[in-house]
Amino acid sequence: MKRGAESNAARESQIVDSIMKRLRQEQRCVVRKRHGTAFCFAGDADLYGSLRGRHFEIEVKRPGQFPTDLQAARLVNWRDSGALSGCATSVREALAILGLTE
Ligand SMILES: [Mg+2]
Repeated sequence: MKRGAESNAARESQIVDSIMKRLRQEQRCVVRKRHGTAFCFAGDADLYGSLRGRHFEIEVKRPGQFPTDLQAARLVNWRDSGALSGCATSVREALAILGLTE
């Protein structure tokens, strides 16, 4: 991995961690990080869980970055099934996907 890519990854993981920390404060909320492995379904989002009975999927990006076409398609798949889904670059955006406020 190039030095630049490494620091970019670190910044996304910091956003992931801050979103998870915030969601753990919610009542009846379970949040999990999805680790990309060969056994993973390609394109599925970084975070998934359940908020008061509603499944959610959140793709996390650094500000100014966007989901790949495959990631965007997966978010639509989940949304079409009734889940809450979207792409977030901050805690605020993640909360908005879930209908929560800071
Ligand atoms: Mg991501």
